[in-house]
Amino acid sequence: MHMASASHHSHAPTPVGEQHARRLLRSHGLRCTAPRLAVLSVLGRSRDHGHLTVAQIQQSLTATGHDVDLTTVYRTVSTLVEANVLHALVIDERITSYGPTDIPHHHAVCTRCGAINEVPSEHLTAALAEARTGSHFALPDTAGLTLHGLCPACQQDAEH
Ligand SMILES: [Zn+2]
Ligand SMILES: [Zn+2]
Repeated sequence: MHMASASHHSHAPTPVGEQHARRLLRSHGLRCTAPRLAVLSVLGRSRDHGHLTVAQIQQSLTATGHDVDLTTVYRTVSTLVEANVLHALVIDERITSYGPTDIPHHHAVCTRCGAINEVPSEHLTAALAEARTGSHFALPDTAGLTLHGLCPACQQDAEH
């Protein structure tokens, strides 16, 4: 089911199930340890809501009965970033959040509430090419572009 072509379907995002997480770790040469699987499962579930900080990941793990401390989450996330399973996203210099790299994507950040949405790279192929030409920067397919504006919820608020 999770062939490479799966990312071309623009329907509902596939939840990062444990099978998928295990395959992801192995394909990056990592062992499937419990903390790594737990962190990937949290980030997979939160996919629609963007990316999470280390503190948010730890809160979510504690809430679902995993007894994992902040240091372990931090170490686990660092390992996954080094292996390119996750990527770090610095929106303002105080906050770093983390998201999966399995589906190439850029980010839209709400300037009002800080919500982060993923924008699949396939929707921004032309924009990315223009941005590379215009900036002479090497812009990656994941997190190369960050869009700033109002999220749907804040647009609604602004109308009232
Ligand atoms: Zn991301
Ligand atoms: Zn917002």
